[in-house]
Amino acid sequence: MSDVKNVVIIGSGPAGLTAALYSARAELKPVVIAGLKPGGQLTETTEVENFPGFPEGIQGPELMEKMLAQVKRFGTEVVSENVVSVDFSKKPLAIATDTQTFYSKAVIIATGADANWLGLDNEQKLRGKGVSACATCDGFFFRGKEVVVIGGGDSAMEEANFLTKFATQVTIVHRRAEFKASKIMLKRAQDNPKIKFITDVTVVDVIGTDRVEGVKVKHNDTGAEENISCQGYFAAIGHTPATSIFKNSGLEINDMGYIVPKQFTETSIPGVFVAGDVHDHRYRQAVTAAGEGCKAALDAEKYLQAQES
Ligand SMILES: Cc1cc2nc3c(=O)[nH]c(=O)nc-3n(C[C@H](O)[C@H](O)[C@H](O)COP(=O)(O)OP(=O)(O)OC[C@H]3O[C@@H](n4cnc5c(N)ncnc54)[C@H](O)[C@@H]3O)c2cc1C
Repeated sequence: MSDVKNVVIIGSGPAGLTAALYSARAELKPVVIAGLKPGGQLTETTEVENFPGFPEGIQGPELMEKMLAQVKRFGTEVVSENVVSVDFSKKPLAIATDTQTFYSKAVIIATGADANWLGLDNEQKLRGKGVSACATCDGFFFRGKEVVVIGGGDSAMEEANFLTKFATQVTIVHRRAEFKASKIMLKRAQDNPKIKFITDVTVVDVIGTDRVEGVKVKHNDTGAEENISCQGYFAAIGHTPATSIFKNSGLEINDMGYIVPKQFTETSIPGVFVAGDVHDHRYRQAVTAAGEGCKAALDAEKYLQAQES
């Protein structure tokens, strides 16, 4: 095998590009396979106000362009392709796209996750215009406004409670009368005077042309429709990690689809490391993903050193 890379990084979000930055500066000549969403989730948003170093905030796509420029400055090879399969059963590790197969001593998986949506047209049309799937990221923009949170699990309760710091009214809209949320999380939401519940309804539409103006729901028992006036719509119905290509790879994947690290950023397969939202369903922030990219690169570097000695 003529060309075996030191590190191949799958994914070009904050985790993947930070892993590339550290690997490139360690002279490992990393290859980043960028995937179908170059730059990752932040390319889908406008203002990012919580990434350190940008006191005035920065547009998500611009932040990712800067990260890309930084990794290229240190000689990272960035491939604009999507990984379709991997073979981690032997060394070197194999990573295949539609057009070529890369062989590498180490792999860093940073394929991220995507928020789940109900599938309504306006959810996508009004993204960044009142529609969000991240209260930590966007809650601040809803100071003094009314918002709706869709969902009935722990994350919906958590997002709703968090949003009451800013919003005047938070309405949790849930498709059933019962909740999947733990009793303690549900009670915390029920005890919060700013939170109201509308249950046993189907969300029919997000109302608005340029910005969210409301949410239309249909009551499951009567069929009656109701418009809830709001300026913010938060989907809190889970995330789907991008792990389908790793299903039969031997990696440990939990029942929610997330990769389970063995310790630190190491996975159950030696030489394969993981960083960012593809394993982290708790923090889901650009800065935590970037931090993990750094850790994965340092762990990969140590692994490669140990292989050589
Ligand atoms: C609308 C929105 C607004 C947000 N706002 C903020 C904010 O203000 N502040 C904040 O800290 N966080 C914010 N977040 C969250 C933040 O974007 C994520 O936590 C962060 O991007 C996770 O980084 P990541 O590198 O782990 O994964 P991602 O950013 O999801 O990147 C995943 C990468 O993997 C690639 N990939 C996936 N599958 C494959 C494959 N098969 N082959 C090759 N590549 C693949 C994709 O192309 C992508 O490049 C926001 C998220 C969204 C959706």
